[in-house]
Amino acid sequence: MRAFVMVEPRARGARLIERAEPALGPDHVLIRIEAAGICGTDLKVLEWAPNIAVRAGSRLPLTMGHEGAGVIHAVGSAVQGLAPGDRVAPVSIHYCRQCRFCREGRSSICDNRPTLGIERDGVFAEYLAVPADRVSRIGQDVSLEAAALLDPIAVALQAFERVSVGADDVVAIVGAGTIGLILALVARVYAPKRLLLFGLQVDRDRLRLANSLGVEAVEAQDPAVARRVVDSVTHGYGADVVFEAGGHPVAVQTAINLGRKGATVGLVGLPFGPTEIFTSQLVWAEKTLVAIRGFNQSCWDRALAYIGEGSLDLTPLVTHRLPLAEAERGFDLLERREALKVILRP
Ligand SMILES: [Zn+2]
Ligand SMILES: [Zn+2]
Repeated sequence: MRAFVMVEPRARGARLIERAEPALGPDHVLIRIEAAGICGTDLKVLEWAPNIAVRAGSRLPLTMGHEGAGVIHAVGSAVQGLAPGDRVAPVSIHYCRQCRFCREGRSSICDNRPTLGIERDGVFAEYLAVPADRVSRIGQDVSLEAAALLDPIAVALQAFERVSVGADDVVAIVGAGTIGLILALVARVYAPKRLLLFGLQVDRDRLRLANSLGVEAVEAQDPAVARRVVDSVTHGYGADVVFEAGGHPVAVQTAINLGRKGATVGLVGLPFGPTEIFTSQLVWAEKTLVAIRGFNQSCWDRALAYIGEGSLDLTPLVTHRLPLAEAERGFDLLERREALKVILRP
């Protein structure tokens, strides 16, 4: 089968190769992947970022990708309740279900959380074999493309699980990358009073797309512009809740600054280096910083319920659909910010 595989432990060490079809264990299902999303994490794998090299270094060759959906092609001899032809999405992170964090319902910080496309072969391939209890069944009326986007929906739901948003809240999101836009769309479930999405000049196309989807998206190259906009809708108080989704130290500082006294600031982005924070400003204003990582299994299950009832659909964010052979072009489009969400069709 064809697969987009990290073959060499270096930046851009991936290419499309022919691999043996994965072996089907007795408790595994073999999925024919129909749609797979490229995510910011995949970009970090392709660039062989140090934190990825630590996790994936010993596992090459490694098929990339963790956001996918498809149709069951074969089931192992011990599998019950799933059959060839069933439409499914593999759960992107295989939480251990045993550590204290999993048992406390906080699987996002599980001690042992192999992820498809990092510690396990992923979805950028024609076929994927996974344990049958690591797949979610998808209804007939949900597109496999929508199902492939379960993972980013779950990530956004995790943000709102960690930082609650209510009907009286003014919410600001700093960073108009894929995660910022997804947060803005998923926030609708919570119907905040106002939601503002801030991006930079380079995000202009993304901001336009967000606007076309009904999100109040504002270009604010200068953080002072963002603060003025927030002030204008909060009588000068500042936002009740802010999410940092830019993954850059300046975005972190901007997010803290946009919050009112007593605000909660959710950190979703992953800056590469340290961020300087004047903690006295947090203390004086009793602002709360909340760190948000990935998602809990419960958020995945809720994402599944939302897409099932049709109340959350991220497919309007899909800007490109490419065959697997053009995976590398998909990455280039994302890197140049010409694409927002790329779906590969293996
Ligand atoms: Zn992802
Ligand atoms: Zn665990």
